[in-house]
Amino acid sequence: MPEEFDLVIIGGGVVGCMVARFLSRYQLHVLLIEKEADVGMGASSANSAIVHAGYDPVPGTLKAKMNLLGNAMWDTLAGELNFPFERRGDYVVAIGPEELPALEDLLEQGRQNGVPGMHWISGEEMIHREASINPQVSGALWAPTGGLCDPFAVTVAAAENAIQNGVTILLNTAFEDFIFERKRIIGVKTNRGEYRCRWVVNAAGLYADQVMHQAGIRPEFSITPRRGEYCVLDRAEITINNVLFPVPSAAGKGILVTATLHGNTIVGPNANPVSDRTDSATTHSGIDEIIEGAHKLVPSLNMRHIIASFAGLRATGNAPCEAPGIDYCQDFILEIPTAVQGLVNLGGIESPGLTSAPAIAQHVIDLLCDAGEKLVEKRTWQPIRPPRPRFRSLPNEERARLIATDPRYGRIICRCELVTEGEIIAEVHAPLPAHTYDAIKRRTWLGTGRCLGAFDTPRVVEILSHELGIPPELVTKKGSGSEFLVRPTKQVQE
Ligand SMILES: Cc1cc2nc3c(=O)[nH]c(=O)nc-3n(C[C@H](O)[C@H](O)[C@H](O)COP(=O)(O)OP(=O)(O)OC[C@H]3O[C@@H](n4cnc5c(N)ncnc54)[C@H](O)[C@@H]3O)c2cc1C
Repeated sequence: MPEEFDLVIIGGGVVGCMVARFLSRYQLHVLLIEKEADVGMGASSANSAIVHAGYDPVPGTLKAKMNLLGNAMWDTLAGELNFPFERRGDYVVAIGPEELPALEDLLEQGRQNGVPGMHWISGEEMIHREASINPQVSGALWAPTGGLCDPFAVTVAAAENAIQNGVTILLNTAFEDFIFERKRIIGVKTNRGEYRCRWVVNAAGLYADQVMHQAGIRPEFSITPRRGEYCVLDRAEITINNVLFPVPSAAGKGILVTATLHGNTIVGPNANPVSDRTDSATTHSGIDEIIEGAHKLVPSLNMRHIIASFAGLRATGNAPCEAPGIDYCQDFILEIPTAVQGLVNLGGIESPGLTSAPAIAQHVIDLLCDAGEKLVEKRTWQPIRPPRPRFRSLPNEERARLIATDPRYGRIICRCELVTEGEIIAEVHAPLPAHTYDAIKRRTWLGTGRCLGAFDTPRVVEILSHELGIPPELVTKKGSGSEFLVRPTKQVQE
């Protein structure tokens, strides 16, 4: 007999994990399935990490509503789930007088959307606030409610808190099809078997259109990924303290220069359509494009300090704008469709999807209630996810205390980012266990410094092999097919 759940979530990005966390408050038997070896391996781990203030989305759209509601939820969420979040605010910067009218339009749009505290500042004031800004700056908008987060930490924290509260998360488990009884969905088929359920939440990101089509809805909706490339600059290149956006264009928010919570500066993203949903490679021309965009805002940025590049794929809906009901080019799809029963359908979740994730999760609860689902709170619900120590950010006395309790916290594995063996082992045995190198990297920030993992990788392979009880040849970077080692080259004499 297939295992039975009340609700199955397809996709462990920030949206799916946040939905799981919010639903874990209620007496529901919830399963989340993720096709990759870890949560958050899609758009949720490759973005600008900005909690948007909400002046960008078109007024009156669900996108605008979710952005504003979501933004306001982040302080409480960060406190409960113990992930880093800073409300540093952000600037949209006009370079030259010709860009000023666009700022006025944006300010008006921000007012219509209800963005709190947004106001105009002069070019001179902007130079005073960010000394390295292009001296041609003619004015800027300041949005104090903008924030910075670590999107991966958010996704993992939501997933872990969901698990703490009884949600089952299955990694390496791909949705393949629905099981129907007439027009009602009664379960899902996966590569690891079937699961019966009363509800399915489609949170499949880039693949949400395919899931919709398998459910027999929205045949006109399709996703064309839009790739956004970034460069990461070494901490030595700290010339800005904040988030600097250019004035937006028809193509999007434009190439920004931003500080990160980890102390690096990142520049990007561009926005280019690609045909392959797995093509997140960076390109020469793309990097040139983002360097040019970044120099427009901060001409002195020294690109010799680039230490890494990456790209993320936006789940952009490309159906014609006059599609019935929803303008796919401008809005999220958040619905319980009538053509099929038992589906909560979430699609086209591009930016500001990260910001909006908690509001989308709350919206899913509202949709379920509207559909007649009686949600009863668990008396045992635990909203707090306990923090785990991060050696790098501890004062020396606390480091010493930690090492005295467990000497493995005294062994540095990543020298650039000061990550210890104790932290790695804690992640391997965490509520959502990290079983690959990348899973450890994204949780601890190991391997992201100047040496890009050259020092730590062999040691992490050894630790994973030991802790998981598997031969080193089976340790992977990001799941099956990405093994580091091919075969033993010599026999060690015991
Ligand atoms: C370049 C770029 C910059 C951005 N910047 C920002 C920003 O600064 N602020 C902001 O608010 N938003 C930003 N966004 C948007 C934000 O990152 C996304 O909206 C958000 O991460 C979407 O989350 P998701 O969970 O819907 O999708 P994803 O993170 O893509 O998750 C979907 C998951 O579903 C899984 N999946 C797919 N198919 C299946 C299947 N068949 N079976 C099981 N699992 C499946 C995938 O493996 C994936 O893990 C940006 C996006 C990009 C690409």
